[in-house]
Amino acid sequence: MADREQICPACFRLIPAEAHACPACGADLDRLWARDYRDKLLAALAHPLAEVRMRAILALGLRGEASAAQSLVDCALRHPVDVVEGLAVVAALARLGGAGRTALHTLAEVHAAQAVRAAARQATKSLQGGPHARDRHPRRGDPAS
Ligand SMILES: [Zn+2]
Repeated sequence: MADREQICPACFRLIPAEAHACPACGADLDRLWARDYRDKLLAALAHPLAEVRMRAILALGLRGEASAAQSLVDCALRHPVDVVEGLAVVAALARLGGAGRTALHTLAEVHAAQAVRAAARQATKSLQGGPHARDRHPRRGDPAS
């Protein structure tokens, strides 16, 4: 049986490949690798190739990476003529729930492409009407009294 090993990203000691916590320093390896992956995705948003950026946008949305909201907005604003990318950013932000709300609002206000502004406005609306809008007061729908 082959002894498979990895290097702890925190203390750089050789440790078993299947470890979830480093036996030497106790680092939470799952969390560290997840953070590492997120940082790579955030860095990819600045990649010169649109298709690389696009994959990072999709991945961040799928992961629901709330801390990426501002980076996604910056990415969309850096490429104002790329409507497809702008729409992908809107879709990714819509998956972040409340964390994406401010970001969507920004895009709805300032993005150069009308289609992106409209999609961002639409996404903001569906966030507000969504099942997680628990901080909203109940609508006073009754015109009575
Ligand atoms: Zn370690």
